Amino acid sequence: MSGPAAPLASLTARGEVAVLGLGCSGVAAARLLVAHGATVYASDVGATPAARVAAEALSAIGVAVDVGTHDLDRIARAGTVVVSPGIPPAAPPLRAAAAAGVPVISEIELALPVLAGIPCIATTGTNGKTTVTALVGHLLRTLGHRVAEAGNIGTPLAEVALAAERPTWIALEISSFQLHDTPSIAPTVAMLTNLAPDHLDRYDALDAYYGDKMRLFANATAASVRVVNGDDAEVTARTARFPGRVERFSLVDPSATAWFDAAHGRLMLDGASLLDRDRLPLLGAHNVANALCAGLAVWAADPAHRSPAARAALAEGLRTFRAVPHRLEPVVETDGVLWVNDSKATNVQAARAALEGMTRPVVLLLGGRHKGEPYTALGEALRTRVRHVVAYGEAELRIVEDLQGVVPVEGAGTDFAHVVARARALARPGDVVLLAPACSSYDMFTDYQERGATFARLARGG
Ligand code: ADP
Repeated sequence: MSGPAAPLASLTARGEVAVLGLGCSGVAAARLLVAHGATVYASDVGATPAARVAAEALSAIGVAVDVGTHDLDRIARAGTVVVSPGIPPAAPPLRAAAAAGVPVISEIELALPVLAGIPCIATTGTNGKTTVTALVGHLLRTLGHRVAEAGNIGTPLAEVALAAERPTWIALEISSFQLHDTPSIAPTVAMLTNLAPDHLDRYDALDAYYGDKMRLFANATAASVRVVNGDDAEVTARTARFPGRVERFSLVDPSATAWFDAAHGRLMLDGASLLDRDRLPLLGAHNVANALCAGLAVWAADPAHRSPAARAALAEGLRTFRAVPHRLEPVVETDGVLWVNDSKATNVQAARAALEGMTRPVVLLLGGRHKGEPYTALGEALRTRVRHVVAYGEAELRIVEDLQGVVPVEGAGTDFAHVVARARALARPGDVVLLAPACSSYDMFTDYQERGATFARLARGG
């Protein structure tokens, strides 16, 4: 279980470590570094109240801190830079580091050596990462393991590395931004849920985005195991060149190790029924794919997870899992209208999956900060399932332009209470009001959680 006695020794020996960003991952990285004897400088260009609180806490343990600015000369002199995933590569401190030849790593890369020896199931992909990671964590726990869910899901991996009690398994969610700076990742099982255009506001080209995702497999050997989406041609084509054992999940293909037998309504694993679809308490076909993906990964991760008792525990885990907040989360049903919060549908593919999961007519809230994809890519479900689209926020005009003539659509401005009131007025008994915005939230909210919570409060009439 234990890694080397001083896993960060070579890093700390290179000199001061500059931590960029005072969000939760930056704070955890700085604390881990201090715990391992490093000299640390941390900075954030944002001077938010949260950054100030973080700065005070870090100063108290001996970290040099700047809030509201980055000291670019100091960063250029650092031995290593640890970067938060929210900071784009073109940001001045990263340019300064690159110009000076200072190695840049993610907070996950920093924490990995401290957690060496603990088996890890790592998930990336455009959509479904958090749901699959939470599912993996829940399944491993049902099997009796002590699990840490970490990474992009919310708890920084550095925080797991700081905890007194070590987990016996790690369920890691890792985004393309994090993978970009995590060169040593080599998980027990590496998973790719799907690939679709996203983050075109940050990447110049789709190839660069998909390329970062592929870094999850960069250290694969013949002994590696990966779990991939057998229904996604892009996933299949891009992962084919990596060595190791491949396990596929599919919603249609009986030759995949995990697949959905739609005719009998069963989730199948390794040639036998694992669970009836109606026992899985999640909406939408995409969540069947997520359950297959997670179940397959846990099954593949250890021979001990393939016994009859372990299979029964996997089925039990799928039955007792509940939707992660803001992911197709039913909020309330009033006057015959069901309100569903899918605030985490921050790109077109996710919103499309949400729409396709609806069985009732939909009043769809679309809007926020545009990410680059045309809204017509929401597809056929727009015509077959949507009664009305309410477009709002920065993307309002683009959405109205894209969807005019496809589906009834109206713009509702930037006052979210008014946006929700319009949805209420348009919905009829038997309908669903679905917040699946296909955009980021940053034009009107701090993040997707605040957007979802505001929607839920307004939906309940608050
Ligand atoms: P991520 O962490 O990758 O953003 P989440 O599990 O948080 O993924 O889900 C985000 C949104 O993506 C959900 O609200 C849902 O609308 C959609 N989604 C989830 N799983 C899938 C999937 N397998 N395929 C397509 N869309 C999905």
